[in-house]
Amino acid sequence: MNRYQVGDIVKMKKTHPCGGDLWEIMRTGVDIRIKCTTCKRVLLLPRPKFEKSLKAIIEQNNTSSCQ
Ligand SMILES: [Zn+2]
Repeated sequence: MNRYQVGDIVKMKKTHPCGGDLWEIMRTGVDIRIKCTTCKRVLLLPRPKFEKSLKAIIEQNNTSSCQ
């Protein structure tokens, strides 16, 4: 099981048309909002689809999220 949170950099199985495969998680919930770190384009994926295409968590955001 993968534990991911806002701010994490993740690698997806599918490469973005721009050539980048690293994404930053911007929002979690029913849908996961991720931003391509290469071209800065934002994608909104349903959680099951996101988890299916998630390959690896590259960088964990350690700052505790209390806002
Ligand atoms: Zn891109």
